[in-house]
Amino acid sequence: MSDLNTQMKERYRNNFLREVTANVEEGEWVRMCMQCGVCAGSCPMGPHWEHPPQEIFMMIRANKRDEVLGSSSMWFCTSCYNCIARCPRGLPITHIMHGLAHYGKRLGIAPKEQPTVKFSQKFWDNLYKKGRVNELKLGLALYFMNGIGEGIKTSLKMQKIGLGMWKTKRMTPVEMVGGHGCKDIKGFHAILDKARQIEEAKAAQFSG
Ligand code: SF4
Ligand code: SF4
Repeated sequence: MSDLNTQMKERYRNNFLREVTANVEEGEWVRMCMQCGVCAGSCPMGPHWEHPPQEIFMMIRANKRDEVLGSSSMWFCTSCYNCIARCPRGLPITHIMHGLAHYGKRLGIAPKEQPTVKFSQKFWDNLYKKGRVNELKLGLALYFMNGIGEGIKTSLKMQKIGLGMWKTKRMTPVEMVGGHGCKDIKGFHAILDKARQIEEAKAAQFSG
């Protein structure tokens, strides 16, 4: 368990709803849920979730902190916005789900083996490097994310698509030698580093 996780757990002891309200994007909306189930019924990912949004919100109120933050559920959200369009109480469900996922990751308790958790980290690392996503490198990183054997197998399976992309110039030598970057990469990094500093400063309020 990470230090920050322990500090937050102690600070909000037995009041996970308050913790979510204070730390999760749009978390203050959770208390408005009336458990009608429309979001769960509208979600295209419904059959695949461990806990649909309605259940997650109920679990937050029931103080099931570890079960919620360690769940893979929020990492299944595809941001289709079906739930937001239909919620009779107007809850920003999509944002709350992503907020919970982000908070769990920040505390170091998001499920590390969940493919979408791995993907989000790879996407971020790729984007951070040059300010633009290098699709070739991102694709390869994903193929090899579960080991060399699986990476080779997937690459061979996808070679037809790769050749098609090459022929239609969707993949060019530029991507192979590093890819395009944004013009002011220093400025881009300065913005992201500042945002990280602000987050760390917020987290430091709870230390000691
Ligand atoms: S649709 Fe809205 S009010 Fe109904 S269960 Fe989902 S979040 Fe709660
Ligand atoms: S935005 Fe996410 S939670 Fe909402 S319906 Fe779509 S997949 Fe489900």
